[in-house]
Amino acid sequence: MFTHLFGSNNHDSEARAQQRERMVEEQLRSRGIGDERVLAAMAKVPRERFIPNEDAGNAYGDYPLPIGAGQTISQPYIVAAMVEALEARPEDRVLEVGTGTGYEAAILGELASEVWTIERYLELADKARQVLSELGYGNVYVVQGDGSVGLPQQLPFDKILVAAAAPRIPESLVEQLAEGGRLVIPVGTRIEQQVQVVRKIGGETVVTAHELCRFVPLVGAQGWEQ
Ligand code: SAM
Repeated sequence: MFTHLFGSNNHDSEARAQQRERMVEEQLRSRGIGDERVLAAMAKVPRERFIPNEDAGNAYGDYPLPIGAGQTISQPYIVAAMVEALEARPEDRVLEVGTGTGYEAAILGELASEVWTIERYLELADKARQVLSELGYGNVYVVQGDGSVGLPQQLPFDKILVAAAAPRIPESLVEQLAEGGRLVIPVGTRIEQQVQVVRKIGGETVVTAHELCRFVPLVGAQGWEQ
């Protein structure tokens, strides 16, 4: 009985690992994601653990999924593209705005020394904290609150990734960025946005625009109204 259960669990995790490898090759590398550290993190983090049970079988699909509270988790390619644009280094302190399931925070936890992630819905923040703890991500800290104003008690951050759509670049986030730091954020309307990369160089900010995307809104003091 135990042998059988153990065997089937092993089989299951091997199948999941194969799905992750396929996702990395077919959805990420083939579309131009080239950072090997990002690809290795995406091949390692068990995405199915973060997805609500009813959709766990779709965890490696090439599409966004519902996660509760009317929110979604982005398709794997968008996660990889945003994280690649962030250029997280092993010594970095990172802020993520929009924890959602905690999946992207786990990816960032693989790449940086410390990750603070903030989510407006308590139920999502609590669930993400639990899964991250079960998976042993001791360097990822989940906070419930309005991340459009950043996390002033933990500043400065080397990198800031916003996983929700903002009407403009929030000034608080730029202020909380360390010199030489980088902020990656979707900016635009509620319907469509463009990924923007903000770099702080010599006290100045330099903004570049990248691919089009579609995120749920960043709702808060420096985001959209409810
Ligand atoms: N990164 C997440 C993941 O890996 O599952 C998915 C993020 S989901 C696309 C966007 C999240 O941003 C939602 O969970 C939403 O509740 C959250 N959000 C929106 N406005 C926010 C705010 N002002 N502060 C914190 N979280 C916010």
